[in-house]
Amino acid sequence: MEEFALFSKTSEIPLEEYEFKKGSTIGCGGVVNAVFPRSFTELIEVVDWCEEKQKRYCVLGNASNVLPPEAQSDTLFIFTKRLVGATFGKTPLVYAGMTAGAFLKECEAHGKSGAEFLAGVPCTMGGAAYMNAGAAGKYLSEIIKSVIVYQNGELRSFPKSECDYSYKHSRFMEKGGVIFAVMLDLTDETPEAIARKKAEYLNRRKSLPTGRSMGCIFKNPDGQAAGKLIEGAGLKGLRLGDAFVSEEHANFIINGGNATVKEIKKLIEIVKNAVYAQYRVRLEEEIRYLE
Ligand SMILES: Cc1cc2nc3c(=O)[nH]c(=O)nc-3n(C[C@H](O)[C@H](O)[C@H](O)COP(=O)(O)OP(=O)(O)OC[C@H]3O[C@@H](n4cnc5c(N)ncnc54)[C@H](O)[C@@H]3O)c2cc1C
Repeated sequence: MEEFALFSKTSEIPLEEYEFKKGSTIGCGGVVNAVFPRSFTELIEVVDWCEEKQKRYCVLGNASNVLPPEAQSDTLFIFTKRLVGATFGKTPLVYAGMTAGAFLKECEAHGKSGAEFLAGVPCTMGGAAYMNAGAAGKYLSEIIKSVIVYQNGELRSFPKSECDYSYKHSRFMEKGGVIFAVMLDLTDETPEAIARKKAEYLNRRKSLPTGRSMGCIFKNPDGQAAGKLIEGAGLKGLRLGDAFVSEEHANFIINGGNATVKEIKKLIEIVKNAVYAQYRVRLEEEIRYLE
């Protein structure tokens, strides 16, 4: 806490202790300093403070695609979870902290279709825009018009053409910036038809593993499925401590209860090495490592 004590003294934004073991979808990691800004003004305040004081910070949504730090960290984790809202004018806009599930409910109520493929993805819309989340062959970038980003003390709108989107990639991975909101290209549809589409997409996810995970660990190499390569290397069910490669989908690593970050990292390394040994394919992580 000392690292950020000064922040507590100068700001109204409560500094909290955040337990990644409870809060991340993978269910492991240490206790860290965190803030949950309640407005964009607060978000700007905390980002400016970190920049000015040269403190490390990391903006997170639902922590569903990240491997948390094992223990203490000198990073301030800034969660967007309280920055929730959407508008449905000419171009629908969604705030970064809104979950895909909550946004899809709003879309259904407003008769706006196009984002249903995100049904069941446990993400915030900011996290999804950063990761270029996708499911069933569709990616968020296909329906993005622009992304509103705070960087270097300025709020800027990046049209999709400047977001450098490709498979599980965005410009924000290299160039940084805090995603505030996303503007989307959606079409008019009846709420009934939207509900039907959502249900269809949710149904397709029924075979995905349950249990605590980060979703897919690796990106699919060109023309191949990472899960199939891992399965082909005989790694399904491979266990290290309480972490294991899912029997249902080999690209998922499951925390059986008390897996540590170290065990999961080691298991990822073993999987990468085994797949390389068998196929000469270098798997690349989709998940992000937090420090
Ligand atoms: C069970 C399960 C199923 C999953 N299924 C899918 C799937 O079908 N398709 C898919 O694509 N993914 C899937 N995922 C992975 C994950 O949900 C997505 O990658 C999602 O986009 C991450 O969103 P998040 O809000 O949790 O981001 P986080 O995990 O919190 O963050 C991910 C990255 O985005 C950055 N980030 C987050 N918010 C912001 C912001 N506002 N500004 C700047 N940077 C930001 C973070 O710094 C981090 O680097 C799944 C995960 C789980 C656990």
